[in-house]
Amino acid sequence: MSFSELGLNQTLQTAVANSGYTTPTPIQARGIPAVLAGRDVLAAAQTGTGKTAAFTLPILQKLGDVGDKRGRKPRVLVLTPTRELAAQVAESVHTYGRGLPVRTAVIFGGVGFGPQVDAFRRGLDIIVATPGRLLDHVRQGNVDLSAIEMLVLDEADRMLDMGFIHDIRRVIERLPAKRQNLLFSATFSGDIRKLARTLLNNPEEIDVAPRNAPTELVDQKVVFVPKSRKRALLSWLIGSNNWRQVLVFTRTKHGANRLCKQLENDGLSAAALHGNKSQGARTKALDGFKSGSVRVLVATDIAARGIDIDALPHVINFELPNVPEDYIHRIGRTGRAGSEGEALALVDGEEKTYLRDIQRLLKREIPVLTIEGFDLQAQVAQREDEVDPRQSQGNRRPGSNPGRPGAPPRRKRGGNRGRGARRQGSN
Ligand code: AMP
Repeated sequence: MSFSELGLNQTLQTAVANSGYTTPTPIQARGIPAVLAGRDVLAAAQTGTGKTAAFTLPILQKLGDVGDKRGRKPRVLVLTPTRELAAQVAESVHTYGRGLPVRTAVIFGGVGFGPQVDAFRRGLDIIVATPGRLLDHVRQGNVDLSAIEMLVLDEADRMLDMGFIHDIRRVIERLPAKRQNLLFSATFSGDIRKLARTLLNNPEEIDVAPRNAPTELVDQKVVFVPKSRKRALLSWLIGSNNWRQVLVFTRTKHGANRLCKQLENDGLSAAALHGNKSQGARTKALDGFKSGSVRVLVATDIAARGIDIDALPHVINFELPNVPEDYIHRIGRTGRAGSEGEALALVDGEEKTYLRDIQRLLKREIPVLTIEGFDLQAQVAQREDEVDPRQSQGNRRPGSNPGRPGAPPRRKRGGNRGRGARRQGSN
């Protein structure tokens, strides 16, 4: 199957070739003809499947010759859960639409209204937006949605998780009844099915990522390690393997900040990505990570949703998510579109139930990796977790002495900081 067989015109085929893609991914092979044919689409696809191009390319083609009339009304609306995803979708529109006279605005909260209002006034074709801010504009009468022909809900499951359903419904009320609808979701809860039933008209159903079966390209492993040793293990893994680009997940924003500081103390350049960060700080963190000046990006689930980094080699679950589906989203950041990736979960005794739920969802066991110096059984891990590391410094079992082989290497700079860092203790 090649892109030329999907019905894309020459301009878009060239755009695809310029992006270096030779073969359509499964969602593209099925999605592009369906969208071109004007069908509604219900797609089960996680990030990494090429879903963005699957809707962006045919949308650009369907917009056709938009002419250069000023003050034109938007005809396509893409709703996304996060600012990052909105920015990335808009970037894809720009990349694939280079050379086309299509105007796109990306609309999200946390930044001023002024430039967004100006963009609406100038006239545009495609809006990529998060629901809350778009609704603000709608209510203030800044934008006219009466000419929307195509609606895309991207990562709909996450939008519902984030409580956007009412905003989405209010936005939809403002759209013309006759339009084409595309719904993309990684998981299919009852709420998503309900939304799909009310929104979609005889949709083409595309299921490229059978639910709960993450890409085969991800090499998944679990390391059982006491909570108090996780940070040391992480620094050691990154340092001894010379990993240059590592995405690390924590459960909380606070945990992300703390881990980031600890990694910096270990001499590793790190940045945190989470919802409490300003838009500027998030962009800076992501740009630093992409360019290589930031080696470790520590993210929470929501912040990491949809970030698009080509061929991300290493994803570390520093803490397991308590929602098993989030594990699949997390490891979906690696092994993307044909490149292999590694996903390692650091699991302490308290997280065993999370691991059990994740394995149940995956319908298989994740292989256990033992690392010399950290190869503690989960039960031992549990026991160690119960000990305050500050009190246990002089009282460690032989197996947990930081000076012995297999323990994390001492920091290259600054003498015994390795031990000092340990003394700061738990995560
Ligand atoms: P997405 O699932 O839309 O986030 O896309 C995941 C990644 O795959 C992005 O980095 C795209 O640039 C890339 N990609 C999309 N389509 C293809 C393709 N047909 N071949 C190779 N890479 C692709």
